[in-house]
Amino acid sequence: MSTLAETSPTEVDILIVGAGPAGLYGAYYAGFRGLRVAVMDVLPQPGGQITAMYPEKPIFDIAGLPSVRGRDLVDNLLAQAAPYEPIHLLGHQAVELTYDDGLPVVRSAQGAIVRAGAVVVTGGIGTFTPRPLPTADAFEGRGLVYFVRRLADHTDQDVVIVGGGDSAFDWAASLAPLARSVTLVHRRDRFRAHAATVERVRDAGVEILVNSAITATEGADLLETVHVTHLPDGTAREIKAQSLIAALGFTADLGPLLDWGLELRSRRILVGTDMATNLPRVYAAGDITEYPGKVRLIAVGFGEVATAVNNAATVIDPEAELFPGHSTDGPAERK
Ligand SMILES: Cc1cc2nc3c(=O)[nH]c(=O)nc-3n(C[C@H](O)[C@H](O)[C@H](O)COP(=O)(O)OP(=O)(O)OC[C@H]3O[C@@H](n4cnc5c(N)ncnc54)[C@H](O)[C@@H]3O)c2cc1C
Repeated sequence: MSTLAETSPTEVDILIVGAGPAGLYGAYYAGFRGLRVAVMDVLPQPGGQITAMYPEKPIFDIAGLPSVRGRDLVDNLLAQAAPYEPIHLLGHQAVELTYDDGLPVVRSAQGAIVRAGAVVVTGGIGTFTPRPLPTADAFEGRGLVYFVRRLADHTDQDVVIVGGGDSAFDWAASLAPLARSVTLVHRRDRFRAHAATVERVRDAGVEILVNSAITATEGADLLETVHVTHLPDGTAREIKAQSLIAALGFTADLGPLLDWGLELRSRRILVGTDMATNLPRVYAAGDITEYPGKVRLIAVGFGEVATAVNNAATVIDPEAELFPGHSTDGPAERK
């Protein structure tokens, strides 16, 4: 995986904005077509919503894979594109689109400048920011986390999870077998999580504290203690914890993409059947697109980004065929 020097303008055939599943598959497709490709994402890790929200969940509706763990799907997408050496610009938020001699130029807030033959926007639901847990923010990175990046990081820890949705309960179910203890704290006595998952978590021995909130956190340097208050009567309880997972949901924001002059509907990018937007040489694919009958699924994003890249290829090189040929037509050894 190559990295771009932050200030050097770079030239690629295709710049993909968004390293979610659609963007990562787009990188493969661009490489397969012999196009130089860069993938930019504001997050420090590739994988979009999968990496941020459900890396350990099994996904059951990817064609040809009866069940695949989120993290493994992302790793496989990276491996599929790797032979074509895409440039990965992680931690870069695409903020500005201009044109230079008819070609799109995208600038990131962190200083990268990419001049491309075409841009494919696979920005999903935008940049997501976790809803904060103000009573614990002093311990962010020292016990408080908003994502479980690796289950193993919590091995043999006392873990407190805050939230009542699917993520909170999924983490509780996944961590129960390897953590020393897991306590789930929720403000209400009803859960948004799937009832079957709630039962699984109860059966796994997770203590569930309802109508309760984290009112204070303590620790010398790292987190040591979480104070939980039972809201109806104000009774307080101290729980030993080295790890506090705030699973309170996310806000998502398309932010700067909204100012690019793209034609939008309900904050999504309108595309045609070729995935072209209203802007020259700018295509879109994945969750961010809108058209009649749109279905927001990973499988749909894969198809859309293949269409986007193949159409972009014919704009970059008017001699190029729209149909890329079959991957099976190549040599037995890939690239
Ligand atoms: C809990 C959960 C479970 C799910 N389960 C399934 C399932 O079982 N099957 C299924 O098909 N779908 C599932 N989905 C939906 C699926 O994750 C999305 O459809 C998919 O991630 C969309 O992929 P994408 O690449 O279009 O966008 P995303 O995955 O949203 O990726 C977009 C990327 O673009 C980046 N980005 C945005 N704006 C910028 C910018 N200006 N500059 C740089 N980077 C930017 C973001 O940081 C992000 O990484 C689930 C979603 C959730 C939340």
